[in-house]
Amino acid sequence: MDIVKNILTVDVEECFHRNDFPLSRQQRDFLGSRVMEQTERVVSLLKAYGQSGTFFVLGEVAELYPQLVKGLAREGFEVALHGYHHRLVYEQKEEEFRHELQKAKVLLERIAEEEIIGFRAPSWSITERSLWALKILADMGFRYDSSILPAKAYLGGIPGSYPWIHKREEAEIIEVPPSVMVIGKLRLPFSGGLYFRTLPYNFIKFCIKKMNKKGFPSVVYLHPWELDPELPRLGLDWRGRFALYHNLGKVQAKVERLLGEFSFGPVCEVLADADSFCRS
Ligand SMILES: [Zn+2]
Repeated sequence: MDIVKNILTVDVEECFHRNDFPLSRQQRDFLGSRVMEQTERVVSLLKAYGQSGTFFVLGEVAELYPQLVKGLAREGFEVALHGYHHRLVYEQKEEEFRHELQKAKVLLERIAEEEIIGFRAPSWSITERSLWALKILADMGFRYDSSILPAKAYLGGIPGSYPWIHKREEAEIIEVPPSVMVIGKLRLPFSGGLYFRTLPYNFIKFCIKKMNKKGFPSVVYLHPWELDPELPRLGLDWRGRFALYHNLGKVQAKVERLLGEFSFGPVCEVLADADSFCRS
């Protein structure tokens, strides 16, 4: 096992919470709510390998399933926030964002019975035009943010952003970006979502090892529904089918290999050692 502790993060939401292709009420009903069982599956895997991580929970999910949040906190996992309704930050006015954030933070803290210090925006939607959100997060007591993908994505990302954990200039807050492979000016996301599902395991392992060799922890992210090969099949066009169902049957094996070969912890634990690798 490697010496550098990596960061494992899980965005706790339903598969229909995505922002890239909104689904109808009927389609959502067809998919049903599976987040409880799916998250339990991720928790069991982590426990089986003696590993830990941070769970960014959506306010809506916490409201419907407080026992899920309580269970995570009780098991010693870090509970953090993924917004209230999975809305893109840059589509909200500052006041709206502040209001929803406050509501979600209070809710999550009441259920988890602990302070919530981490935030991740839906779909990497803290971009150049919504950097104001960092100040609001810091004002509200968040100590770190994990919303800036340092690459171009369909709905978000800031390709020029510093790709490793760093302190932001805009506010008193630490940025924990999802890991990308840096090759010259090229930034290749590999550490989660469709990239993780599509890329071969050995390439992902190579990227993490490369980061660890420099002394940086990698930041991996998963969605519980991505480990659910039984996800009901909607009649979608090829793009929708690819985004939602591609390689669902292969994710668990990949995650298990990662858990067996690398050491993972929650953001809060790795940040305790931040001075050794965090650029000011
Ligand atoms: Zn999300």
